[in-house]
Amino acid sequence: MENVADYFGCMVFNDVTMRERLPKDVYKALRRTIEEGKELDLNVANVVANAMKNWAVEKGATHYTHWFQPMTGITAEKHDAFIVPSEGGKVILDFSGKELIKGEPDASSFPSGGIRATFEARGYTAWDPTSYAFIKGETLCIPTAFCSYSGEILDKKTPLLRSMDVISKEAVKILRLFGRDDVKRVTTTVGAEQEYFLIDKKDYEKRKDLIYAGRTLLGARSPKGQEMEDHYFGALRNRVADYMHDLDKALWKLGIYSKTSHNEAAPSQHELAPVFTTANISVDHNQLTMELMKKIAESHGFACLLHEKPFKGVNGSGKHNNWSLNTDKGQNLFEPGDNPKDNAQFLLFLVAVIKAIDEYQDLMRISSASAGNDHRLGSNEAPPAVISVFLGDELTEILEAISEGKKAYGKSKESMELGTHVLPAIPKDTTDRNRTSPFAFTGNKFEFRMLGSSFSVSEPNIMLNTIVAKVLKGFYDKLVDAKDFSKAVTALVGETYKNHKRIVFNGNSYSNEWAEEAERRGLLNLRSCPDALDTFIAPKNIALFKEFGIFNSVEIHSRYEILNEEYAKTVHIEALTLIDMINRQVLPASEGYATKLADGICSKKAACPHLRFDAEIGQLEKISVLTDELYEAVNELQLATEEAEAYEGSALAHYYREKVLPLMEKVRKPADELELVVDQSVWPYPTYGEMLFYI
Ligand code: ADP
Ligand code: MG
Repeated sequence: MENVADYFGCMVFNDVTMRERLPKDVYKALRRTIEEGKELDLNVANVVANAMKNWAVEKGATHYTHWFQPMTGITAEKHDAFIVPSEGGKVILDFSGKELIKGEPDASSFPSGGIRATFEARGYTAWDPTSYAFIKGETLCIPTAFCSYSGEILDKKTPLLRSMDVISKEAVKILRLFGRDDVKRVTTTVGAEQEYFLIDKKDYEKRKDLIYAGRTLLGARSPKGQEMEDHYFGALRNRVADYMHDLDKALWKLGIYSKTSHNEAAPSQHELAPVFTTANISVDHNQLTMELMKKIAESHGFACLLHEKPFKGVNGSGKHNNWSLNTDKGQNLFEPGDNPKDNAQFLLFLVAVIKAIDEYQDLMRISSASAGNDHRLGSNEAPPAVISVFLGDELTEILEAISEGKKAYGKSKESMELGTHVLPAIPKDTTDRNRTSPFAFTGNKFEFRMLGSSFSVSEPNIMLNTIVAKVLKGFYDKLVDAKDFSKAVTALVGETYKNHKRIVFNGNSYSNEWAEEAERRGLLNLRSCPDALDTFIAPKNIALFKEFGIFNSVEIHSRYEILNEEYAKTVHIEALTLIDMINRQVLPASEGYATKLADGICSKKAACPHLRFDAEIGQLEKISVLTDELYEAVNELQLATEEAEAYEGSALAHYYREKVLPLMEKVRKPADELELVVDQSVWPYPTYGEMLFYI
């Protein structure tokens, strides 16, 4: 048996490998680049590139690629072989520092949201040395950022790295005020829990909706759903266990800390959770995890579905973004402390997050907005579209007391003052009883639960880092000249909580009462993706991103365009797929069966004129009524997709949301009813029952 510790990270050019393979001075120069963002000298890059290539070739690599994360939400790569022609028809293998540092893929085929029209079509990729190179298949992958030639960001990595820098800078300034002069850097840590479905590949291949749209657009519910609650944490079936084992092995080789695997609530649904790490690496790792989940599924005869709502009527899949801040001295800033100074510091960072979330509810909502996730948010399985923060009773009581200027707080009811006394210990197990909150404090980190399963976790962390940096910056300005620092912190914690406590909600977020209560509190309820996107270009948001140098105005508008376009395209593809399935599969199958019934009735009547054949006639009538209804609905949908051409941008997204999606539901209804009455042997695609219960 192989030992995991021996092969863990064997496909990664990680720190240990670098130290082994690089001359000391080169290694040191590279570390400086990684830790302090110092520019890499070309001579150093040449040595690193050569060492990387030799390492990769020893592991069987033949190609290299700049691996980047364009706005499509998935990763992109263009493979170049290491070969360079040499004398006598032979080749040598070469990889230069220049090739390592910079690449020039053609940017014109990636979403740019109008930037392309304004500027040059070319783009370039630049190595992110804070993320290790790795080998996937036969290719050495260099994680890179992706920009347009004139420097506009076209990807999901660059703004994340920038946001990590700004929050570090602002957090370090605050820590200085608390006398922590030794802290040089604060790192954003992220752990992304990933849900997914596994179904049989043979079933997948028979469904155009899964192939084109990633979700079923049709399908009657099976007699059994998830109501027995027998799947969650249930024993793994052998086939699934084998798959998970292979997946873990592949992830471990890539240095990904896959830790926990279990069955989820819906039949055939599962989850994988890694151990958290630095945010940008966590984003890379989650992308690789999703990619490998799909790839390894194939070799096990499965199809892995990462869509947010592959099946109507059973739970969809989400992703939880666990987020925290860690100093380079190893302190987690959201870990309640055990001395007065640490506690005051903890509470200050805590209310900074509360204020940030309250003031930028829209940005958090945008970071979880997509056509797919619209099918989840607000149903009973995922947090509603209203953003709120869960703190738990203990912390809420403490903050309430401070905001009212009371000295007594906490369970112990002792008289204490912030900054001079130890806070009551906050028991971890009581902080997370509530699984319905979109943004929950869970003991020493925050868990953002609104994300859809197919999302890059980059976006929510860009938002979180930037909005919290903004608040910390304001806090610093208030505290820097305070005469009595301790008193000033107490006042600031109390005042911030008082002004923003409307965002704190510890109850059941799935209840209807909460939606009403949230409205009374004046919280945003951006129900759909297009609704959410409309708020992206609000002046306050543009000002925020500009202030911290995350996006300029052109870049925000570009992202706004891209996201609207993506929404419209997604629903458009779904509508066309649905029309195709109805016209070429459902109607022919239903009509054919009706014809068979009608022919049967005629010949039976001829044979036995004294009998009524109520069953056959009843069935025939039912099917004929439903096919008429379906025919009418599908024509209406067809027309609506043609009329979409009159719109563009945000108006087009809204058109698809408000006009096309309801028509798709109208089509689905009679089609699903037909599925329940037509002979199953002629039904053209696998049913929910077959897909979810036969693995
Ligand atoms: P659960 O949410 O199921 O109770 P845990 O609380 O153990 O499970 O952790 C969930 C995820 O949160 C894991 O991916 C874990 O690595 C991550 N996590 C734990 N601590 C931190 C932290 N300080 N920063 C970011 N993520 C964290
Ligand atoms: Mg969780």
